Amino acid sequence: MIYFDHNATTPIDDRVLEAMLPFLTTFYGNPSSLYRHGRLVRSAIDSAREQIAALVGAQPTQLIFTSGGTEANNLALTAIKPQAKLAISAIEHTSISEPADNLARLGHELKLIGVDRNGLVSQDAIDETLQYHPYLVSIMLANNETGVIQDIARYAQQLRDKGILVHTDAVQALGKITVLYNELGVNMMTISSHKIYGPKGCGALIFDKEVSLKALFLGGGQEQGFRAGTENSPAIIGFGKAAELAGAELAQRAAHLLKLRNLLEDRLTAIPGISIFAKEAQRLPNTVQFGIEGMDGEMLLMKLDQKGIAVSSGSACASGGGKPSPVLAAMGVASELAKSAIRISLGKTNTEAEIIEFTNLLQALVIPG
Ligand code: PLP
Repeated sequence: MIYFDHNATTPIDDRVLEAMLPFLTTFYGNPSSLYRHGRLVRSAIDSAREQIAALVGAQPTQLIFTSGGTEANNLALTAIKPQAKLAISAIEHTSISEPADNLARLGHELKLIGVDRNGLVSQDAIDETLQYHPYLVSIMLANNETGVIQDIARYAQQLRDKGILVHTDAVQALGKITVLYNELGVNMMTISSHKIYGPKGCGALIFDKEVSLKALFLGGGQEQGFRAGTENSPAIIGFGKAAELAGAELAQRAAHLLKLRNLLEDRLTAIPGISIFAKEAQRLPNTVQFGIEGMDGEMLLMKLDQKGIAVSSGSACASGGGKPSPVLAAMGVASELAKSAIRISLGKTNTEAEIIEFTNLLQALVIPG
């Protein structure tokens, strides 16, 4: 199989699995237990917290481990005060847009911050948001479909200067570009393990003292009382190892991905009828989303699947919906072209040979005969 869907999920790195295995077998103690067998696991969780905090430039005490990016995003939105106004970008992942819609149903005013044709939040849109003066703003660092990177540091400063709380979903950016919580200047940031070659079902919310979160679950008081429940120790330890590797190998991984992406884009532009979305914007080095005039994205995905190539026709969660992607709609892409969208998201083990095989096959599918 040629796997080109790393924004949906990544395979576990062998070194991550190796770090996790003892905690699935020998060291199974409950980290809250006071005897040695438990304390040992607690200390491994503490080390993982330090590894992740080091990768993102935060203090270990600022991390709350969750079951993934979705839970961390839901937890972030609990920071809203009763009746307060909320603003999110129009291109957020459903794990922000759905809880935001729910808050709107509960009576909060909700503003969608628009993006331009390149998928970028503009200064004008931020000026409008400053006027609107919400209590909390959530804008993702990098988009899962287009890979577009927002200038969060600049906008966070402007918003926070006016006393507005800022959250960013950094799930897709982590491990692909430098992501430093302290330099972005946000109050809250979401990250997830399975997008950086760690195990699934593990993520974290990073937060500061200005934020007052409400726990989604009550119980044993784990994670400073913000996330009760016995810690998923093997996954947290795996996440820690994945973070350590992502930090050590970031430059090398990013250079490899960019080289492959450039080759892919050169070959794609040679195929008639293909347009790459958000081509002018700064994007993640691993992501390319494109439309092909007159084609159906999901049909194409199925044909590629038959040939052993895994791609996405939008975001993984939206696949199968038959509706054009809301991200592309927000960018003003016509519905017909949006329905033809294919997303390629490359990973550290992809090769030039795979890009060539894929583009040759795509060309044959697009121009039969
Ligand atoms: N945020 C973004 C931008 C994502 O792409 C995803 C997953 O696709 C999530 C959040 C959800 O993360 P998780 O799968 O860890 O719940």
